[in-house]
Amino acid sequence: MIKTISYLGLGTMGSGMAANLLKAGYELTVWNRSAEKCEPFARKSARIADTPADAVRDVDLIMYILSNDQAVEDVVFGAKGILSGIKEGQIAIDMSTVLPATSLREQEVYAKHGVDFLDAPVFGSKQESADAKLWILAAGNKAIFEEVKPVLGHLGQTVHYFGKNGNAAAMKLVGNLIVALEMEALAEGLILAQKAGLDLKTVMEVVKVADFRSPLLVSNGQNILKRDFSTNFALKLMLKDAGLIEKFAESLESPIPALHVAKKNLESAVALGFGTENASALIKALEKEAGVEVKSAPRAKTPTISHRQPTAAGRL
Ligand code: NAP
Repeated sequence: MIKTISYLGLGTMGSGMAANLLKAGYELTVWNRSAEKCEPFARKSARIADTPADAVRDVDLIMYILSNDQAVEDVVFGAKGILSGIKEGQIAIDMSTVLPATSLREQEVYAKHGVDFLDAPVFGSKQESADAKLWILAAGNKAIFEEVKPVLGHLGQTVHYFGKNGNAAAMKLVGNLIVALEMEALAEGLILAQKAGLDLKTVMEVVKVADFRSPLLVSNGQNILKRDFSTNFALKLMLKDAGLIEKFAESLESPIPALHVAKKNLESAVALGFGTENASALIKALEKEAGVEVKSAPRAKTPTISHRQPTAAGRL
């Protein structure tokens, strides 16, 4: 039974997951490249490790969620990386969004050390991570999956098993292809609605109930109308994923014409300086082209009544 866990990567997603593992009662060690993100966990009695190699010593399960393939390369294979601290019999789970080929390479190298490996990326964002409501994918040895399933159950509301290693990473890219196209569709649709002079609040009421509705369209649409681009899923990470989807689809000769268009707009939005804002800031690239800014119209002002007295500031 798994009792001790190391969690590496305490960014937007990892910090919520690590907190939920502590809440669930596991003995937790954490590591993050920028050490200050470990401080809240030190206060909650987690062990803080100095290096990935130090983090993974003597634990049952190693979990990590890092930005991209390069970060996995550094943390797993690099100097003082996970590989230099692991021991036979341990289990490692990579929850990052990376190429399936990266997951396969991890599995192969871990196997040489007698360590079992699952790729287990997630759907959901900052809030779902904090609330343990993620939608988790997993692939690798079935018996190992069954062993870690109770742990994953403390992080998500669903866990889907996809068979051999690399398949969960592949499913994550399939899902993010759909996410990217939904974001592109939302941006194009809202700009068209604004240009057509439609009331955008009513537009969003329809998006909420119609047969093309999705929680992603609703939450991002409402935030765009409020001009709230605070980061749940960074635009630069969406662009990173679009690059992964391109590579993966090309390797399988699978056509992705719409993704190429969305990727171009993601690139433009990053070039305009919005990379660290939420992925919905993709709309800002199209707004520039369209010469409009999408936001709900201000409430109609109370009509001016001629006999009202001026306020102290001298204005009605
Ligand atoms: P994030 O907030 O940017 O966190 C990234 C983490 O990776 C941080 O802990 C960061 O360390 C670490 N990192 C980056 N480069 C590194 C390197 N070279 N060496 C060591 N550590 C490195 O990203 P996130 O939103 O949590 O996303 C993490 C992963 O989950 C990504 O693959 C993303 O695509 C995926 N994902 C994100 C969401 C979402 O909604 N945010 C949803 C599903 C999946 P520092 O703190 O030192 O920078």
